[in-house]
Amino acid sequence: MIKFTLRCAADHEFEGWFRDNASFEEQAAKGVLTCPVCGDAKVAKSIMAPSIRTSESAQAARAEQRARMATLMQQLKAAHEHVEKNFENVGERFAEEARAIHYGEKEKRDIFGQTTAEEAKSLHDEGVTFSFLPPLPKVDA
Ligand SMILES: [Zn+2]
Repeated sequence: MIKFTLRCAADHEFEGWFRDNASFEEQAAKGVLTCPVCGDAKVAKSIMAPSIRTSESAQAARAEQRARMATLMQQLKAAHEHVEKNFENVGERFAEEARAIHYGEKEKRDIFGQTTAEEAKSLHDEGVTFSFLPPLPKVDA
């Protein structure tokens, strides 16, 4: 059996299995091969080159995506390291501390910690500036 990628006159692509090339030619000549999309019987073998190019560019796109993700992960990791080294970890008291600093009740300093989405929203509404650091994905050993 041999698989051909076929194309109708309206450019619909589909696949068909044939015993051999001659069997494809025979069926195509009889007009028994029809496009599953539009029913067109003018079906020809699709040129293979474009599909090779497609898979190559898909591979290139995947490699690029992986490289982008790796760069992003590195930046995120560096940001985490920077914050953990230079900022004071106030843990779950983040909203409280951020407010105290914002209203001048406490000395201005860099802090980091956890807060809820609700707290983050009200901090934002009060004009407290802070940024979110996305968590590092957990890597299963
Ligand atoms: Zn068609």
